[in-house]
Amino acid sequence: MEADPKHTLSRLVGPAGPEVGCDACFDELDRYVELELAGEDADAAVPGFRAHLDGCPACCEEHESLRALVGARQPHR
Ligand SMILES: [Zn+2]
Repeated sequence: MEADPKHTLSRLVGPAGPEVGCDACFDELDRYVELELAGEDADAAVPGFRAHLDGCPACCEEHESLRALVGARQPHR
């Protein structure tokens, strides 16, 4: 009996690992952007966040604008 690749694939569709919804995404947005601008590994600190941004244009846009906002607010020394 041979394995059906399509069947295996369909079982793999969907988020692997922690699922981040829009609400959780908004909760973590500040922290994620701060880490990102600080040069920290934001993807490791907020697992699943980047994956959500990739699949959610609304949050992606929100992330972009917050990053621009916070980035502009950073004190220049
Ligand atoms: Zn979202």
